[in-house]
Amino acid sequence: MNYYSLEGNAPPVSFKEAVINGIAPDKGLYFPESINPLPTGFFNELTTLSKNEIAFQLIQPFVGSSIPQETLENIINETLDFEFPLIPLTDRISSLELYHGPTLAFKDVGARFMARCLGYFAALDSKKKEITVLVATSGDTGGAVANGFLGVEGVTVVILYPSGKVSEIQEKQLTTLGKNITALEVDGTFDNCQNMVKNAFVDPEITTKRTLTSANSINVARWLPQSFYYLFALQQLKERSNPPVFSVPSGNFGNICAGMVAYKLGMPVTHFVASVNSNAVVPDYLKTGSYAPQQSIATISNAMDVGDPSNFVRIQKLFENDFGKLSQMLTSYSFSDTETRAAIEELYERFNYLADPHGAVGYLGLQKYLSAHPNAQGIFLETAHPIKFLDTVEAVIDKKVTIPNAIEELIQKKKKSVAIKNYSEFKAFMLHS
Ligand SMILES: *Cc1c(COP(=O)(O)O)cnc(C)c1O
Repeated sequence: MNYYSLEGNAPPVSFKEAVINGIAPDKGLYFPESINPLPTGFFNELTTLSKNEIAFQLIQPFVGSSIPQETLENIINETLDFEFPLIPLTDRISSLELYHGPTLAFKDVGARFMARCLGYFAALDSKKKEITVLVATSGDTGGAVANGFLGVEGVTVVILYPSGKVSEIQEKQLTTLGKNITALEVDGTFDNCQNMVKNAFVDPEITTKRTLTSANSINVARWLPQSFYYLFALQQLKERSNPPVFSVPSGNFGNICAGMVAYKLGMPVTHFVASVNSNAVVPDYLKTGSYAPQQSIATISNAMDVGDPSNFVRIQKLFENDFGKLSQMLTSYSFSDTETRAAIEELYERFNYLADPHGAVGYLGLQKYLSAHPNAQGIFLETAHPIKFLDTVEAVIDKKVTIPNAIEELIQKKKKSVAIKNYSEFKAFMLHS
C-alpha cells in the first residue's frame, strides 16, 4: 500500500516511509492510495475471531509489504495486551472503555503500535542511525508515547511539556521512565513547546545531526490502529442486527476518522457523532458549510481543546470532499463544561457509572442523537480513566475516588526532567546530548 500527500506535491511512499517521515515533505498528511472493503464474511464472523485476528485483518492491507506477517502479528499481540470492555448502561446505550492500557488513555494503542513499527524499521537500517521521536504534549500524548517507546532499541524519545501545566499524574508518566526517554520541562505554554518542535524539524543543524520523526496523530501508524476499537465494540454488542451509532469525543479527529476508515472497509454502522466541547469548529462547519479554524478554548475535557483539528482533511477526503455525503454519515454537537459536569453526575446517579469529562461529552452527543432517532442504538467511546481527571470528577460526584495501586506507585516515583527556557537551550540539547 502506498500513501500520498493530501497537499499533492510530494511523491507517494510506502507505509514504512510514511511512518518514518510522519508528515510529507510538502507538509501534507499522508493518505492511503486505496481503501478496499473487506469481505462481508469477516464482519459476520467477528464473534468467532480473537481481537488480534481482527486487528491483523484490518491493518495488514495498510502495512502492505513493509512488515512481514509474523512480525506484524507480534506487534499486534504486544500492542493489544489489555481489555476494551463494552459496558451496557441501558438497552440502547453502551460505553466502550478504551482506558485500560498502561497510561490509562486511549492513545496507548496508537503509541504502542507506532513504537513497535518504528523499532522494527530502525533495526533494519544497516547504518543503525538512531531515530529521534520528538513530541510536544499538553498532557496525554506524552505519557502514552513515552510508555509506548520505552526500551525500543534504535529510537530515542524527546518530549517537551509546559512546566506546571500538566497534571501530577501526567507529569510523572513523562518524567519517571528514564532509559531512552527524556522529558524537557519548558518554561512556557503548550504552544511554545509545539513551536520548538516545528522549528526543530526545519532546522538543518538539527536535522543533519539527528533523524527526526513525530509521534502525534498525524502519523499513519498512530492513526490507523484506532480503527480496531470499533470492531472490538461490535464484537461485544448483544444486538448486532441493528448497526450502532458511534459517538466519539473528538479533538484532533484522529480517532473518529479511524472509525470512518472501518466504515469504508465495510463495517456495519448507522452513523457517527463527533462530540466536542466548546471548541466547535466542526459542528459549525456542518451547519454552515464553511470551515473556519479558531483559537482553542480551555475546557475541563482538555485533550479536546483543539481549534483546528488536524485530521479533518482526512475525513473530508474519505467522503471525496463532498459535503452532502459527509453530512449523511456525520453529525457533530458541542457541549459546555456545565453540561459536561451535569452528564458526569447523571451517569453516576442513574447508572453508578463514573465517566471522565471526555467520555461524558461522548455520552451527551449520543444521548442527543438517540433522542431524535428512537429506533437507533449507540456506543460512546470512553477515552480516559476518570482518575486522570480526579479533581473535576470528585467535585462533581462529591465523593473521594479510590486511586488504583499502579497510580499510587507512580506518584511516589521521582521526577527527572531537563529545564528548558528557550529555543537555543533546546537546540543545544538536541545537538549535544
Ligand atoms: C486525545 C484525546 C481525545 C481526542 O482524540 P482525537 O483523536 O484527537 O479526536 C479524546 N479524549 C482523550 C482522553 C484524549 O486523550
